Amino acid sequence: MATKDLYSVLGVGKKASVEEIKKAHRKLVRQYHPDRNPNDPKAEERFKEVQHAYDVLGDPEKRKQYDRGAMNPFGSGAGAPGGAAGGFDAGSFSDILSNLFGGASKGGGGPTGRGGSTSRSERGRDLETEVSLSFEQAVEGAQVSLSVPTSAACTTCRGTGAKPGTAPKVCPKCNGRGVESQGQGLFSISQPCSRCHGSGTVIEDPCPTCKGTGATRTVKKYKVNIPAGVREGSRIRLAGKGEPGRQGGQPGDLFVVTHVEDSPVFKRKGENLEVEVPLTIPEALRGGEIEVPTLAGRKRLRVPPGTKHGTVQRLRGEGPPRLGGKGRGDIHYRFVIDVPDQLTREQEKAVEQLSEVMNGNPRARLFA
Ligand SMILES: [Zn+2]
Ligand SMILES: [Zn+2]
Repeated sequence: MATKDLYSVLGVGKKASVEEIKKAHRKLVRQYHPDRNPNDPKAEERFKEVQHAYDVLGDPEKRKQYDRGAMNPFGSGAGAPGGAAGGFDAGSFSDILSNLFGGASKGGGGPTGRGGSTSRSERGRDLETEVSLSFEQAVEGAQVSLSVPTSAACTTCRGTGAKPGTAPKVCPKCNGRGVESQGQGLFSISQPCSRCHGSGTVIEDPCPTCKGTGATRTVKKYKVNIPAGVREGSRIRLAGKGEPGRQGGQPGDLFVVTHVEDSPVFKRKGENLEVEVPLTIPEALRGGEIEVPTLAGRKRLRVPPGTKHGTVQRLRGEGPPRLGGKGRGDIHYRFVIDVPDQLTREQEKAVEQLSEVMNGNPRARLFA
């Protein structure tokens, strides 16, 4: 498996800002999303790499650790034994995955590293995915399909990373401790073992399916019910749909972050919607009955004679469902008077006649 630097996976520099990383991630996700590239294993592979790179680089804490090279970027925090800096290549997928599932293969090897954390059960990582919704879907709720890249224990070796019929062996270099010491006495420095990268075991005959990593990448498909009333950036939690736990640990959660398209007609105003409704000059002057859009279709609205620019009328209960099931908001219709840029000759004549009969000076009081 090729070693890839997470920054180059996203095509950004090491000094990239959070914004740049987000932007690069979003662009690549669009490009390689399995929904857009059906039956294209290469695109799927790229998609997974991109998601992984973002999982690490998009999280300031994990990114710091990755930059220091001290971390298995795909573990959920156990990190290198003893937390020692340097020592193993955090950018290599095989290292990463063998750390992710390596715990399952310890057998009687006993705890490794100072904290012995690799032998404890560990909760799976949380995953995050994004979903784009139309304005109407966000308002009324919708069922959407999601493709989520995740890891699963390799079925060939059942997560051990060793070829079936063989088993991982205690690392001869560190005797299973996972750390190496340099120097003596007070001045010794512990580092992750250079042979086993801190796992305490080595695999002599790697599993052909997962190349010794113990894990395979899969894309899980879910149908998710998006509740009514979500907004741009809402996070929906799907408990237990994250990555599997280690050593019998709980699986992580899946967070679905919603992106909501703007509507050309409806604008959100708190729990209500607002619609700008143009009126002709005669409609504003004389009033009348007009049609206005609602979420369900259209309704008739009475415009009183002498309606002024900016006047608002509301239809109660026609707005979006309120969160918590407390009925629905309103739609506010804001009247704006439609003033044409140019007049036809006929209109010009009519305006001339109008100005003759409506010749008061409304600005007189400004100078009183
Ligand atoms: Zn395997
Ligand atoms: Zn070792």
